[in-house]
Amino acid sequence: MADRDIPKTMKALVKRDENDGYSYEDMPVPQPQGDEVLIKVDSVSICGSDINLYKWNDVARVIAKIPFVPGHECAGTVVKCGPEASIPIGSKVGVENHFFCGTCLQCKYEDRGICPTMGQFGHGKKTEHGGCSEYTIVSAKYLYIMKRNMSGDEIAMLEPLGVAHNAIENLEVKNEDVLVIGCGPVGLLAQLCVKALGGRRVIAADIDDRRLELATKLGADVVVNSGRENLKDFVYKFTNGVGIGRLCECSGASSMVNSSFSMLRKGGHIVMVGLPKEPLHVENVLTDIVFKALTLKTVHGRRVYHTWEKIEKLVADGIIDVSPIITHKYKMSEYEEAFKTLFSGKACKIVMDPSK
Ligand SMILES: [Zn+2]
Ligand SMILES: [Zn+2]
Repeated sequence: MADRDIPKTMKALVKRDENDGYSYEDMPVPQPQGDEVLIKVDSVSICGSDINLYKWNDVARVIAKIPFVPGHECAGTVVKCGPEASIPIGSKVGVENHFFCGTCLQCKYEDRGICPTMGQFGHGKKTEHGGCSEYTIVSAKYLYIMKRNMSGDEIAMLEPLGVAHNAIENLEVKNEDVLVIGCGPVGLLAQLCVKALGGRRVIAADIDDRRLELATKLGADVVVNSGRENLKDFVYKFTNGVGIGRLCECSGASSMVNSSFSMLRKGGHIVMVGLPKEPLHVENVLTDIVFKALTLKTVHGRRVYHTWEKIEKLVADGIIDVSPIITHKYKMSEYEEAFKTLFSGKACKIVMDPSK
């Protein structure tokens, strides 16, 4: 796209006040400064956490700051670079929405993805920009430039897929049976990662039969409705009384997180991905935790940019197919309909096209 073809104004969703919902506005197309890059958004997907921002509840007050354009799962095409950025025009990019500082202890020695002072694209944290916008501005250092060919919708899926991959990579699943609790988008993507990283059988648990159906379609070996069946009893029957060796907690239901420790075998590994809203409480700390010599890992986001490289390859090589996860597509102008569908619980991943 030549500079003269970039319009002066664009459509965007904006959170301006604490009211429910967003406003759909005409805004000037921003000009990239310094190392910023202007991208045309090809696809933006809605995250479970976007429900908080839309409704503006207590969680939103912690994770976001008004005003902002929402949409942190964003794929785009580079159309213009600021004077200090040099990404080729036309590059397809994914946005690393954890805006790391680059200078702290974590950024220097551990992982930029867990920078303690990170900003958040699509949350109004250190940037008002987001993906629910025809064009958006991102510093070049927060862009992952795709080396392989894939669709905008697939690129938008890399943000949640990255969280799932980070969790499963930490869980060390090779030749292990893995229990995945919670079959929302990240739980389902985690199941795909288990298979991609050499895990043995996937046992998927959820309280919603529609989600379990999708888990089966994606290759889960066993599904358990943990609303109807006692999951712990099932796990001990399935493992001949030993307990499960690998557990990925994606439900974020505090009661599930609490009981998950009791399902692990001695020496088991657990990774926590879901976000419990209440304090955790474990009844038998000695027998369910200490004497088991467990490994507990938690993840927040992706390893920057290690995870991006891994998942780009898995999707481009066809080892992970994210398309069954995308159950609904909307024009951005139909965003109210899109959120209604999300609230109904019928959707897995919803993507929107900001150009329409
Ligand atoms: Zn997300
Ligand atoms: Zn940092």
